[in-house]
Amino acid sequence: MNRRQLTQVGADAMRAPTVADADPRLLAGCGRIELGRIMAEHDAPAGSWCQRCRWPVGGVHRVCPSRALARSIRDRRPVPGWLLQLVDEVPGARAPAVPVSPQQRWAVEDALPGLFDAPPRQDPPPARPAQGGWSR
Ligand SMILES: [Zn+2]
Repeated sequence: MNRRQLTQVGADAMRAPTVADADPRLLAGCGRIELGRIMAEHDAPAGSWCQRCRWPVGGVHRVCPSRALARSIRDRRPVPGWLLQLVDEVPGARAPAVPVSPQQRWAVEDALPGLFDAPPRQDPPPARPAQGGWSR
């Protein structure tokens, strides 16, 4: 790899991954065995390039986009933040859940059917004052 190609690889490390950077098997949807195969094929030591997709590994991110997508789909985890733009394109990939307030979570939990009606919720006690704020 000559200096010009190395410069191009460095520029690639700065851009956000697109659908073209993902393994075509991921875009078509695949099972756990195929996901493991993708992870093995896209494994590369840090500070080098993925031998399969030529993505620089070890600079900004430790794995190439295909390996990160395959791992998060296999482990049923949300995709890392740098791959959020691919969530809608890759089947099985999902974004992290949006945090909700405790009141919203309680409303959902209280609406679930149960043997008894849920007792009314009480507001949480006020936060304790900062250290040294207690008076005798
Ligand atoms: Zn790769």
